[in-house]
Amino acid sequence: MSRYVGAIDQGTTSTRFIVFDREGTVVSLAQEEHEQIFPKPGHVEHDPREIWKKTRNVMTEALEKAGLEPQDLVAIGITNQRETTLIWDKTTGEPLYNALVWQDTRNDRLVADFAKEGGINRFRDVTGLPLASYFSGLKLRWLLDNVKGAREQAEAGDVLFGNIDTWLVWNLTGGIDGGVHLTDVTNASRTQLMSLETLDWDESMLEAFGIPRAMLPKIVSSSEVYGETRAPFEGVPIAGILGDQQAALFGQTCFTPGEAKNTYGTGCFALMNTDGLPVPSSAGLVTTLAYRLGGQKPVYALEGSIAVTGALVQWLRDNLGMIKESAEVEKLAATVEDNGGVYFVPAFSGLYAPHWNDAARGLIIGLTRYANKGHIARSVLEATAFQTKEVLEAMEKDSGIPVKELRSDGGMVANDTLMQFQSDILDVPVVRPRVTETTALGAAYAAGLATGYWRDLDDLKHNWSVDRRWEPKMNPGQRRKIYAAWSRAVKRSFDWKT
Ligand code: ADP
Repeated sequence: MSRYVGAIDQGTTSTRFIVFDREGTVVSLAQEEHEQIFPKPGHVEHDPREIWKKTRNVMTEALEKAGLEPQDLVAIGITNQRETTLIWDKTTGEPLYNALVWQDTRNDRLVADFAKEGGINRFRDVTGLPLASYFSGLKLRWLLDNVKGAREQAEAGDVLFGNIDTWLVWNLTGGIDGGVHLTDVTNASRTQLMSLETLDWDESMLEAFGIPRAMLPKIVSSSEVYGETRAPFEGVPIAGILGDQQAALFGQTCFTPGEAKNTYGTGCFALMNTDGLPVPSSAGLVTTLAYRLGGQKPVYALEGSIAVTGALVQWLRDNLGMIKESAEVEKLAATVEDNGGVYFVPAFSGLYAPHWNDAARGLIIGLTRYANKGHIARSVLEATAFQTKEVLEAMEKDSGIPVKELRSDGGMVANDTLMQFQSDILDVPVVRPRVTETTALGAAYAAGLATGYWRDLDDLKHNWSVDRRWEPKMNPGQRRKIYAAWSRAVKRSFDWKT
């Protein structure tokens, strides 16, 4: 009887469970969306109980669809939306508050306060990250300051902190009945509490942010057996954890320094493998962990994180009602030949890489009587490609390595117009692999490596092949002109929030 590896992919908009075979082919998939809670401008929450319930649902459904039992799985890997922060009571298993989603900016005053002394880069040396509302450390600080009793209970060791990976592993391994409390190095590298060098919680950061150590999970590697699932999925080793973007890098088999991928989901995240070196960034990227396999040496990456890309398409759908399904944006954009001079800077959560301007806010500029829905739709798609160009330029500056080809994945790669425009504006080929579920695949790979399902990285490289390739077609003058206009628009969005 053949056996498989399962991956939980707990994303920002939905949760998937995917069963893979040895070739990395999807055998079965189930997916459920969860509620996006927006209590106020800038506040974005998820209900952790809903996420845990939907995780169980999709596991059950995917196994049933393929006629499999949990025992048919050699191991399970987990990949998750990173930075999203929650705290829960370890004796009841109940969250003390909704999870603060990575896009949430309610801690922006804390960010500004910390930046007063030493600027936004004051903790970069230790953590690789600038001060921003994005990372977990100051989200956790906000929870400790604002949720009644949280700090006292955390200091007493009764309240636990976790990102979504930690929450799922704790629940899967028994929750209040012996659940293990841990996180992998990639997720920990997004908290701004871990030292890139020691790969442990950094005392000076805990002190600076006022975080009690007792509430923090143990930091472990990305690929090892952490524990076993309990009923109803009894006895399957959980053997891989990677933050979603690192998982995609791993699933795209970018194991060689200089190899890069971009994931087009709610946000966009371009990562480049920089091997055993945590390359400091001066161009506005972040330095992060790519993966660590068991006791092997850690591998680092440079990352350009963009907050709003696919989320802008959702906004067009949900807030303006201009389309009914995300995919319709392509048809609407195709009703016009070009953007008609319209540029849309989606600085809904400020701007992340390479600008790191928390007070930036969204704008649409270049409007004339001529502009119509089609131009807006086009400007929405182009915003994703322009933002990606900004971070790839920064990556080349920081690493000194030109990006020769961009491996792409994520929900938006179904959009042919976007992928062609991306290649045009970058002036390099964009490549989509056969398996586009690279995030889940990366987590499955990490779990399968730890349990001997796959032998080594070469084994995984064999599984990667090209599905489609887009070549640049735009003339250089046009490229320069529209990118310059975009850059002017971006500058106008800066420092809007007063
Ligand atoms: P995540 O893992 O961040 O939840 P996904 O990789 O599933 O995201 O991608 C979902 C995002 O992609 C949504 O924001 C959605 O609006 C966008 N999207 C999905 N299909 C298309 C499409 N055909 N064109 C443009 N955007 C799309």
